[in-house]
Amino acid sequence: MPLTEFELISRYFDRPVRRDDVALGIGDDAALLRPPPGRELALYTDTLIAGVHFRDDFPPRDIGHRALAVNLSDLAAMGAEPAWAILALTLPAADEQWLDGFSTGFFELADAHHVALVGGNTARGPLNITLAVAGFVPVGMALRRDGARAGDAIYVSGTLGDAGYALENWRTADAATRQRLLRPLPRLALGMALRGVASGAIDISDGFAADLGHILERSRAGARVAVERLPLSPVLHKLDRSVAWRLALSSGDDYELCFTVPPAREGDLSAISARCGCALTRVGEITAGGGLQLLAADGAAITLERAGHRHF
Ligand code: ADP
Ligand code: MG
Repeated sequence: MPLTEFELISRYFDRPVRRDDVALGIGDDAALLRPPPGRELALYTDTLIAGVHFRDDFPPRDIGHRALAVNLSDLAAMGAEPAWAILALTLPAADEQWLDGFSTGFFELADAHHVALVGGNTARGPLNITLAVAGFVPVGMALRRDGARAGDAIYVSGTLGDAGYALENWRTADAATRQRLLRPLPRLALGMALRGVASGAIDISDGFAADLGHILERSRAGARVAVERLPLSPVLHKLDRSVAWRLALSSGDDYELCFTVPPAREGDLSAISARCGCALTRVGEITAGGGLQLLAADGAAITLERAGHRHF
C-alpha cells in the first residue's frame, strides 16, 4: 500500500522541534511562531526543479541537503541567523527510499544550524522542492546589496568555480570537488560575523561576476577585479588559466559569499576568517563607476562571454 499524504508527512517530516520560538509546528493549518523582539525577520524562498537545479541521478540525501543549503545561503548573505523553514514538496510518487534519503539529508543540515521545519505542503506532480526559510537579524544590521561605496575592498570566501567544474566534469571530478556541487555549505557563521563590518554582501549562486554585478547595480557603483587573485582550489589551479577563470567568474552554485568592506574595517577580517574557518580573499575594489572591470596581471581587460547563469 502506498503511503498516504498524512503518513508521509508524519513519517518523514514531523520531527520534534527544539526551539521555544515555535508555539505550534507541523499539524495545524498554519505554524505559530514568536519572532524575538528587536530583530528583523529575513524571509526567503527558493525552488529546486529536477533536471534544472540538480541532476536526476543525485542521491536523494544530497538533494535534501542541497535544497536547504541553497536557501540558508541567502540568509547567510543577509547576515541572518536561521530559525524556521517551510517545505512545499511535489513528488511523482511516495517513494519511501527517496523520502528517507531526502529527509535524512535535509534534517542533518537543519539540525546543524538549529533550523526547525514548521510546516509545508505535499502534492503529487513532477519533482519540485520549494522551501521558505526565515531568520533573524538585529534591526538595521542586515548585510544588503546596496551599501558598497567607492574605495571599499571586495572579498570572497573559500574558492570559486569548483561546483561548475564538477558539473562539467561529473564523471572525472574527484569526490571533494563533487561535494562542492552536491553539498554546498552555507556560510552562516561568516555572514553573522560580517554584521557591522561588511558594507555590502551577496551569496554567489549565479557566478561571481554576475552576483558582484548585483551589488554594483544596487549600490550604483563600479568595480575593479584582479582576476589572478580569484581564489582557486588545487584542482582548478591545474587547469588552463582561461578555463579556470571562466569557471571562477561565471559558473554558478559556489554558495560562497562576496562582500565589500570599508578600508577601516579590513583589519577585522583575519580574526573573522580564523573564527569562521574559511579563507577570505581580497580580489579588488569598488569604484565610483565604470561597470565591472576584470583585469589580468598585466592590466589587460578581460571580457566574459556570459556573465553567469540565467533562467531566461
Ligand atoms: P491543509 O489541509 O490545511 O492544507 P495539509 O494537510 O496540507 O494542511 O498539511 C497538514 C500539516 O502538515 C500542516 O501543518 C502542514 O504545514 C504540514 N505539512 C504538509 N506537508 C509538509 C511537508 N512536506 N513538510 C513539512 N510539513 C508539511
Ligand atoms: Mg488548512
